[in-house]
Amino acid sequence: MVFIKKFFLIFLLLGCTSGSLACDFSNVVFDASFSAARLSECTQRGDNSFLLTIKPENHPINDSPWYAFKVSAKDERKIRIAIEFVNGKHRYLPKISRDGLRWAAIPHRLKNKRLTFSLKVDQKPIWVAGQEIITNQHYQSWLKQLSQNSNYTMSVLGNSTENRPIYQLESLSPSNEWVVITGRMHPPEITGALALFPFTQTLLLDQSVGEKFRKRFNVLIVPNLNPDGVEHGNWRHNAKGVDLNRDWNKFKQQETKLVHQKLQNIVANGGKIVFAMDFHSTSKDIFYTMPTDYGIQPPMLVEDWLNQLEAEMPDFKVIIKPGNNPSKGVFKQYIADTYGVQAITYEMGDNTDRKKIISIAKNAAQLFMKKLLDTPKEKFYQPKNKK
Ligand SMILES: [Zn+2]
Repeated sequence: MVFIKKFFLIFLLLGCTSGSLACDFSNVVFDASFSAARLSECTQRGDNSFLLTIKPENHPINDSPWYAFKVSAKDERKIRIAIEFVNGKHRYLPKISRDGLRWAAIPHRLKNKRLTFSLKVDQKPIWVAGQEIITNQHYQSWLKQLSQNSNYTMSVLGNSTENRPIYQLESLSPSNEWVVITGRMHPPEITGALALFPFTQTLLLDQSVGEKFRKRFNVLIVPNLNPDGVEHGNWRHNAKGVDLNRDWNKFKQQETKLVHQKLQNIVANGGKIVFAMDFHSTSKDIFYTMPTDYGIQPPMLVEDWLNQLEAEMPDFKVIIKPGNNPSKGVFKQYIADTYGVQAITYEMGDNTDRKKIISIAKNAAQLFMKKLLDTPKEKFYQPKNKK
């Protein structure tokens, strides 16, 4: 826990890089000139009443309006904020923070697509956002910290559309088996990120089963695949206005291309991708899987693993949703179709308790490692006979 807090502190000190909107009214200022901010327009409607408008990067777009701004006032006062979303309906509940580190939900009303709430403001800015803010800098600091362990190498996989570095971390073993973990294709999906951190840390830092796991399996982690979207506070897309998790059959986007080339290189050098996992958020905790009869290997690995997770966590209902849609361009389907092995989309609910997200992730990671270690190498190699 101290580990996590330290990173948040680093992120806090280094944040605030992008320049964009600031609305300076006579007594109240709204500021969106920091990383991951999104605020499109502000209107003053009364002394202490403001209407804020949030627009997506482009549309049509998934209904995931992200918003993040700071607000301060020349003197202490109570203000009323209404937020309207253009081209999308409300998804994220408003949260506030005084330090960008600790966040609290605030009472709000939602009526006719308008979100309203009241805030006490003063000279010290208050962050307001749809979820906790996790910037590109945070990922960089997190990976840097992990790579202080000499067993792990942090490097730049390549650059995004707008030339931001996309970082990867690799844990190498003498074997040719690879586990791949990706995240943050969709910038506002913070609970997915909050699961990726403890899941990955368990894989990399666990001293018992983790040591055996890392001896046998190589691990590739690309935790932040859409740094442009994260920087701009996008609702969903990359800098070209494209949903990256619909591009894994076309590879028209720089970000998906980079991962595809990396995996192709691994295979060209004798490596075998054995499993992949992609972290997201949605309305509830759910694991999107490939069907057990899809012909990928080993057929029951995911079912067995997740059923065991439910058995070990009686207060957590595991929902497994198998699906197969080759034309959609989703990452898990790409892994299944290209490498013949299992892959999942690991989704945490937008409003799932944050401590629970961590405990699910740690348990899931422990059981995942055991499950993979119990799987003989040849079980990943059965020929694919069905599509
Ligand atoms: Zn998503």
